[in-house]
Amino acid sequence: MNVIIYCRVSTKEQADQGYSLEAQEKACRKFALDNEYKTAKVFIERGESAKTQDRTQLKKLIEYSVRNKKDLSALIVWKFDRFARNLSDQTELLKSFGELGIHVLSCTENNEDSSIGKLMRNIVGSFAQFENDVKSERTISGMKQAVQEGRWCWRAPLGYKRLAVEGERSKIIPSNESQFIIKAFEMLGSGLHKQTEIFQHLKKQGCTKITKSLLNKILRNPLYTGLIKTDFFDNFIEGIHKPLISKELFFKVQDILNGKKPSITPKIRNHPDFPLRNFLRCPKCNTKLTGGWSKGRLGKKYAYYRCRHSKCSVNINKHDLETSFYGYLKAFHPKKEILDLFEEVVLDVWKTKQSEEIKNKYLIKKEMKFLKEKRNKIEDLIIDGKITEDTYNRKFEEVKQTLLTKQIELNETNIELNDIEACLAYCKYFLANIADLWLNSDHNLKQRFQNLIFPDQITYKQNGSFEPTVTALIFSHLGNKTPEEYTLATPAGFEPALLA
Ligand SMILES: [Zn+2]
Repeated sequence: MNVIIYCRVSTKEQADQGYSLEAQEKACRKFALDNEYKTAKVFIERGESAKTQDRTQLKKLIEYSVRNKKDLSALIVWKFDRFARNLSDQTELLKSFGELGIHVLSCTENNEDSSIGKLMRNIVGSFAQFENDVKSERTISGMKQAVQEGRWCWRAPLGYKRLAVEGERSKIIPSNESQFIIKAFEMLGSGLHKQTEIFQHLKKQGCTKITKSLLNKILRNPLYTGLIKTDFFDNFIEGIHKPLISKELFFKVQDILNGKKPSITPKIRNHPDFPLRNFLRCPKCNTKLTGGWSKGRLGKKYAYYRCRHSKCSVNINKHDLETSFYGYLKAFHPKKEILDLFEEVVLDVWKTKQSEEIKNKYLIKKEMKFLKEKRNKIEDLIIDGKITEDTYNRKFEEVKQTLLTKQIELNETNIELNDIEACLAYCKYFLANIADLWLNSDHNLKQRFQNLIFPDQITYKQNGSFEPTVTALIFSHLGNKTPEEYTLATPAGFEPALLA
């Protein structure tokens, strides 16, 4: 009578004496011999974790059993739970072997095919499953505990690395790549860059691991601002690791990503040599102009704006067009008394808003005071033993979370209160110097200016003037000269070399 043997241990069992694979195999072989069976084949499953579903040897064992069922009378295991830790899987396997006519025998447990034998098997299986469940519960509660203590217990994300100190719990610390993470948040937070630009910048700076989707994940990961978010808890947990960026920056970036704050990046990426490309329209057919370089007869290169339309031949020298545009912007210079009036109106509006902010700030502070008192009360309750530790942790975390949100709100208020004067001064300066600012800006900023002042279409007229359909409200109310009044002037210091 032929039998087959199946042996398996978990990693933990392997460490304990008497549970080794060799011992199991030996016991099974002895059991076969004692019962006058001939061992046809031994299947040994190595390196098991408690949960592994994929078991190559078990698969081979089943295949072998199906092929050789006529020659096999039994399958010997050390214990029934070798098959599967899960009771229903175990029962399922025992049933399958039964259908093949192969008895499954345990060399350490009751083998009777009687109802008591079946019960024994079920009980043994139940305990195996129970043990397994407890083990995973323990792991989860361990992780929960760690998270509650502010420890990140998963793989360190890009920008952090895991530091293991002997005798201490391992922790995550900023890695060499942290500079890239900081840069990415700063760039997006500035509102001047798109994710694609940030991605390219990081790659160029030597951040080899970055991908576009990883960048998006990074920008949304609160871990970088010191907060831990897991499925265990609804709210953020303040981590013990060093944050790479401030909470203000993180939440600002979230607002931009969620479309709550406008990102002011240009819609179309342009050639840096041609700021007016895709912006000004053709005087003949009103199609948007493009720009490019062409070679002259002597091999010298010339820059031109030309019409995108294939049947249109409009072609304008880059220097001429940009000089005209600069001159046109000059016409937007508002009168001094208008500027002063502007300042007065803005300040007036701001003062009303400020009193609201002060009220708001007072309310936030009051709420924070209340929350802090609540936090103290919770502490008293645990000291007096009136609440359980679980309740304490939960309540404490809730209050801490709300406090954090309030602190952020308060900081936002501060920003607005402090910056109004600088902002106003800049606005005045901007309004008074729009043409020169445009001239001296880089490509990105030039386009932002252009789109700000002329939010809709603007056409270049053949007589050297421009015809916008809409001018930004602020300019149309600042008493600028009408387009007819403006003169085509080359400003001082505006050399062709600057453009070509
Ligand atoms: Zn055209």
